[in-house]
Amino acid sequence: MADARAPIFDKVALIGLGLIGSSIARGIRTYGAAKRIAASDSSADVVARVRELAIADEVTQNVAEAAKGADLVILCVPVGACGEVARALAPHLAPGAILSDVGSVKAAIVAQVAPHVPAGVHFIPAHPIAGTEYSGPDAGFATLFQNRWCILTPPDGAEAEAMRKLSAFWTRLGANVETMSASHHDLVLAVTSHLPHLIAYNIVGTAADLEEVTQSEVIKFSASGFRDFTRIAASDPTMWRDIFLNNKDAVLEMLGRFDEDLTALRRLIRTGDGDGLFTLFTRTRAIRRSIIEQGQDTAAPDFGRAAPREE
Ligand code: NAP
Repeated sequence: MADARAPIFDKVALIGLGLIGSSIARGIRTYGAAKRIAASDSSADVVARVRELAIADEVTQNVAEAAKGADLVILCVPVGACGEVARALAPHLAPGAILSDVGSVKAAIVAQVAPHVPAGVHFIPAHPIAGTEYSGPDAGFATLFQNRWCILTPPDGAEAEAMRKLSAFWTRLGANVETMSASHHDLVLAVTSHLPHLIAYNIVGTAADLEEVTQSEVIKFSASGFRDFTRIAASDPTMWRDIFLNNKDAVLEMLGRFDEDLTALRRLIRTGDGDGLFTLFTRTRAIRRSIIEQGQDTAAPDFGRAAPREE
């Protein structure tokens, strides 16, 4: 039987060392998922910082150098940069290597990356459903993926051994692995992630533009609900611009459903249908309960925030 703690890969190359790339690097070290880590980022500042943090064995601005001899290469750059990075590193991928990514949309990444993948290289897109509103190499931490889902979207006919190794890698980093098609992933994420972010960006933008309520009042009384939207609306602008541009159809479809439901809700309020409102709010409360039961969030009041100190 294989040693459960033995490294799964000899050399993993991480391209893009922001929140996700640097968390993978730290996770590989902490959980012994690979013998060596090569890190590459287009930003000289990020490269310098990753060297200081000492979270990789090789650190370079040159993607080709990082990819050379790697048996797993993971693109951890914004969705819109994946095609260009894949084109640059494709000639340097070792035969038999696995090429993967962590992008928050999948069909658009497949369309951008797949044409560059050389024969003999296994391209298996992935998306770890884990993150925070922070960016950059200092934001990452080894336990980011613990008890979070990682969705793999293998193309038809993906090699079983490559799938096994990539699944084992994410499991070693603490994730639960699930497999689905790229288009189904995009639909699921449109409703669970992309639409909520769009709503948060919209609410925070609306509050910022209000004329009848001052900005200082919005901030002062934010703990009544608004504050929780601002956490989501503080997410990285580049990442989220790319997500909406690259998952346009699924987001627009979910936005259409949202509009219809909002119209129904408006009618319940207008007609004073308290029973209708109560029924909906009871249903939504049950969803929150299921999320907690499945360990996807804390049951602590106020999301576990420390209670304000009594003076
Ligand atoms: P991030 O913290 O902004 O890091 C991205 C890094 O990639 C930055 O250091 C960036 O450098 C670098 N980069 C940009 N273009 C590049 C290129 N062409 N070549 C090499 N490096 C390049 O972003 P992140 O949150 O880690 O997100 C990375 C990927 O993970 C995205 O595809 C995102 O959709 C996905 N993801 C994010 C989350 C999340 O919650 N954050 C969750 C799951 C998946 P510069 O700073 O100089 O641009």
